[in-house]
Amino acid sequence: MRLLILGPPGAGKGTQAARIAQSLSIPAISTGDIFRANIKGGTELGKKVQDILAAGQYVPDEVTNEIVADRLSADDAADGFLLDGYPRTLAQVEALDAMLAESGTGLDAVLELTVPTEEVVQRLLKRASIEGRADDTEEVIRERMAVYTKETSPLAQTYSQRGLLRSVDGTGDMDEVFARLEGALKETSDS
Ligand code: ADP
Repeated sequence: MRLLILGPPGAGKGTQAARIAQSLSIPAISTGDIFRANIKGGTELGKKVQDILAAGQYVPDEVTNEIVADRLSADDAADGFLLDGYPRTLAQVEALDAMLAESGTGLDAVLELTVPTEEVVQRLLKRASIEGRADDTEEVIRERMAVYTKETSPLAQTYSQRGLLRSVDGTGDMDEVFARLEGALKETSDS
């Protein structure tokens, strides 16, 4: 299956993406993880995006699109993948459409995790005290939420119009959310 998972920062996309990917034997591809690994490794890409991530802003589309195109061309993504954190802008949606068209494939479903803003902010602040991610300070969290609302939240409508969107309640414990996502995927493969 070719899937993506949408949702605000702190919605639990990364956790759920890893579980879904494992259960479907497809790779989970997180652009945020790719950027953080490059920052940690001190690569050219890492140097380019470090300050952008620390400020809670989006990496330029050209940079992100190229990384995803490259990653999707790897052998392990040939039969399916779950994208987490991409696309995040309408321009990225178009870029992904073009990549998939080129390989003669398309998305099977777009999962959306919905969580109220107040709850995601609380979760991110809690994570900040545990993981110490550079972009988990209150000020940067607010910026990430604002950028998400402006740039990324319209994508749900785009995919809904295409009949691909499966919205799932992202509140409650991890197992409950996972069960809801599996239910949504089952409906997709049954239909
Ligand atoms: P979160 O969903 O909690 O914001 P991510 O790990 O998905 O965490 O992303 C962390 C940061 O990486 C973003 O704030 C942004 O700076 C950058 N990033 C990740 N994916 C993209 C993307 N598709 N386009 C632009 N920037 C991105």
